[in-house]
This record gives sequence, C-alpha cells and structure tokens, in this order.
Amino acid sequence: MSDLKTINSCDKFAHVSIGNIEEFEGKQFIKDASGATSCEISFGTLPTGTSIPFFHSHKGNEENYIIIKGKGTFQVNDSVFDIAEGSVIRVATNCDRNLKCTSKEPLTYICIQAKEGSLDGYTMTDAEITDRENLM
Ligand code: ZN
Repeated sequence: MSDLKTINSCDKFAHVSIGNIEEFEGKQFIKDASGATSCEISFGTLPTGTSIPFFHSHKGNEENYIIIKGKGTFQVNDSVFDIAEGSVIRVATNCDRNLKCTSKEPLTYICIQAKEGSLDGYTMTDAEITDRENLM
C-alpha cells in the first residue's frame, strides 16, 4: 500500500498524491484526504492472475473504472469482456462487478464512484470563462 500524501490544500482546493503510479500497490481511497463532496475516487492495482476477492454491487452509486496500465477481464453480472490500458467501463447500480488482471504487468486502475443520475450540467453547460489573471 502506498502512502497518500496531502501536498497542499485550503478551503478552495486539495492537492493529494499517491506518488509514482509505477510503484503504487493495493487500493487507496481518496475522498477523506481530498474532501471531495461529489464522488469517491480510488486507485487500485491487481497483480497478475488476481481479481478482487469478492463481487460487489452498489445501491445508489454508479462506478466508472479507468484502466491506466495492464490488461484484464471485467465481469458485470454474467457478461465478461476484455479490458486494457485506455478502457473506461461504466457500471450501473444494482449489478455485480469484478475485474481480473491477465497481463504480466499489474492492472492499475482508477474507480470513480458517484450518485447515479446526479450529473446535471457539465463542461460548457456548467463552466464559465472568467477574467482571472494567469499567474503561471
Ligand atoms: Zn464499488
């Protein structure tokens, strides 16, 4: 398990890090450190040939898995399909899910969990261009 570090934060942002993704192992939830209020984000890795030791389902939250590294298979209820680096898998509420690493390198992924149906405005329907001076 890697250590989650808070780099800097204030009332308007939180910057936390799991460190080098190549060295990351295990599972790390982020919400408590970042203070996120709209979703839970976790990083996970699975060594070759392993899967999460149980299936699980969510009552109110959908999950979006983003595969960062490695290859594997994903199961949702009775459907099984191949996944690889670059895959994004959205899983609805009230169904069973699991994933397995089939590559020689670990399968590394991010899971974003948020209330199903809660996305209202997004990108240009929610954002507005402001007059802030660029200090970078
Ligand atoms: Zn879950």
